[in-house]
Amino acid sequence: MCLGVPGKLEDINGDIGAARVGAITTPVNLMLTPEARVGDFVMVHAGFALKVMDGAAVAETLNIYKSVAQTRSRLDEMCARLNETAKGLAPVNLMEVCGTHTVAIARSGIKARLPANVALISGPGCPVCVTPVGEIDMAVELALSRRARVVSFGDMLRVPGSTLNLEAARGRGAKVDIVYSPGQALAMAGREEEEIVFLAVGFETTAPIIAAAVKTAAAADLANFSVLVSHRLIPPALDALLSDPNALLDGLICPGHVSTVIGWQAYDGLARRYKVPCAVAGFEPGDILESIVMLLEMIRAGQAGVANQYSRSVRREGSQPARQAIEEVFNVVDGDWRGLGTIKNSALRLRPRFVRFDAAVKYELQARRVPEPKGCRCGDILSGRSAPADCRLFGVACLPEQPVGPCMVSSEGACSAAYLYGEAAG
Ligand code: SF4
Repeated sequence: MCLGVPGKLEDINGDIGAARVGAITTPVNLMLTPEARVGDFVMVHAGFALKVMDGAAVAETLNIYKSVAQTRSRLDEMCARLNETAKGLAPVNLMEVCGTHTVAIARSGIKARLPANVALISGPGCPVCVTPVGEIDMAVELALSRRARVVSFGDMLRVPGSTLNLEAARGRGAKVDIVYSPGQALAMAGREEEEIVFLAVGFETTAPIIAAAVKTAAAADLANFSVLVSHRLIPPALDALLSDPNALLDGLICPGHVSTVIGWQAYDGLARRYKVPCAVAGFEPGDILESIVMLLEMIRAGQAGVANQYSRSVRREGSQPARQAIEEVFNVVDGDWRGLGTIKNSALRLRPRFVRFDAAVKYELQARRVPEPKGCRCGDILSGRSAPADCRLFGVACLPEQPVGPCMVSSEGACSAAYLYGEAAG
């Protein structure tokens, strides 16, 4: 869900461009990148351009995508550096915060190449996984009882609610659709008379594009479009994790695309306050290994700052237009996280001037506190207290095609990654 890919702009018409991504040309909303010009490369995420990429960053990214041989030799080089840097260190626990990193680590077998004194723990970086059951229930109620058409990204349809998920609600006649971008939801609202509700989950990567969609709806006065906002913010969750004396984390691998929006400076205060080094990482296996080396070097030197491995995309201050869009459209409020409880200032709500697009207000819905599915340990996994293999349902009663909890639903979930790539030992 948090993945962004480089696309070359071939055409621009107002706020909409046509971007070439690999072999296909796709429409892309340019509200967050007004400076983009034909010929520029932009980072495309869920149908929106998050930032204009500079030439060196594009060349580096495309080279990494193209060259398998180069990636292999880079992996070997990084593993050698990692082993050398880890020599003599006391056991080190590093948390990868981002679900896309969790999948990349599992798929590339990074854990098997780590020295015995370095452990990787998955964190709360899968947006589908951290959405509480009560908020899934709100979406199911909207679709089933209020007869709105609920649309969202694919994974969200399979996340279990307390009685049904959205897919099952669709089986009972509710109107539920998968969309790939909020732009699609806006187009549906413009075409149809029916009520369209976008279930918006995700972190700082997705929040700006939802903000842009809400601004578009306001400009077009789309009365039949609203958003069920379930956005969460990463730094407050890290603060909550690090403040737990039982957490015993020695370093954080910070998310690449979230950091493209908020900038690496967002972790600086946390790193210093808790004396825990942070490294922002890209998504290739070599990127992740290099970020681990950076963390080990800081640990060895007794430093606690922020290293930026993903400098081809992440700047100190992040993306100003994207941050402004979030600021303009949302207020920051306290939020419930699956596994982490209520975290202060960790969620977003539409500002009063956009409240007519807030589905929770429009339909007078409130999230209830609902217990986790029986036996499911997603809460412990998301907070780094357990690994998937610690759950007795893992791979037995809980499978990707028949998930009990959200960590087995999402392609970015720790349980699904461990199951699909054979990391049963966690
Ligand atoms: S294996 Fe399934 S039931 Fe167990 S923690 Fe993971 S998602 Fe929950």
